[in-house]
Amino acid sequence: MTNGDKKRKVIFDKFADNLKLLAELGLLPTITPKFERTYICPICLDHFSVEALDQTIKNPLTLEDAPPKSLGGKANSLTCKRCNNHCGQTIDYHLKERMRELDRSQFLPKTEFNAKFEHNGTTVQGTIRIEEDGKITAIHKNKTNHPTKLETFIKNILPDRIINLTFLKTPVDPFKLQLALLKAGFLMTFSKYGYSFILNPTYDRIRQQLQHPEKTSYPKEFWFQPLFPKEIYGVPFITEAGLEAILPIFSLTTKSSERPFATIIPLTIKPIEETILELKNRFEKSSEFSVTMDPMGPNVDYLTNVEAIKKMLTWIDSKKANGTQRKWNDKT
Ligand SMILES: [Zn+2]
Repeated sequence: MTNGDKKRKVIFDKFADNLKLLAELGLLPTITPKFERTYICPICLDHFSVEALDQTIKNPLTLEDAPPKSLGGKANSLTCKRCNNHCGQTIDYHLKERMRELDRSQFLPKTEFNAKFEHNGTTVQGTIRIEEDGKITAIHKNKTNHPTKLETFIKNILPDRIINLTFLKTPVDPFKLQLALLKAGFLMTFSKYGYSFILNPTYDRIRQQLQHPEKTSYPKEFWFQPLFPKEIYGVPFITEAGLEAILPIFSLTTKSSERPFATIIPLTIKPIEETILELKNRFEKSSEFSVTMDPMGPNVDYLTNVEAIKKMLTWIDSKKANGTQRKWNDKT
């Protein structure tokens, strides 16, 4: 068994047990798991048996990192290979490139980027490298330049001469990079709360959007860069009346930087657009974003603790039934 096999099996067991538990408690009235032990892919909702851990079959269950591994994330759930390939490669790339682009634009140490250098009418290509101590080095390769041109360029570079620099941009799709944030937030929610509410049709919009990254169907303003202390990072609930939502908060790390992100995942009580609008209005009122949040007890296991699961679902239901009348006190 490889390390990957072991990791997949542990995650499969955790979520298959959670699904079984919820089904036995009668909390999934519309879902009948297809197998004795079933894992449902949170993105396409296909049912998989333990056989799907065999990586040689056509569409096995694969490790999913949320946020992406390349930005410091860890594997915390499984998605089927089809979903993983489709949403992973096509959207995560744009988030990673954007983070690197931000590092470069701030000239952060340990960054490297391609640029065009122009002096006295001669243009050459090269790479700029910012070292750990902030020293900037320009590298010109014969391979990417006309040798005579490069020679003339270098000969003419004397101290105090001005060189014009044009940065060569990587093709980042601004919508896809946001989808990568949505996927990270959605899968972090699944990883923390299991199947308790994620199978609800409310989340089909997120699933549809992730499966069809070419078509824009989800609102774009579901994320922001928070200034919360690190202790709150995780998957808290915003419990404040009128603003109720799930708020996965995580940091994206590169060689040179660490940036916090928060994504708004709606509850099953109202459309995402309403939640976003309410939070936006709140932002406009005060630049400091302080709302009542329930960190949902870092020590409470929402996959196995029946009391905690029921309390959470009762709270969500109470919001649906009579708006903001009932208060929820989580003392577990
Ligand atoms: Zn899938």
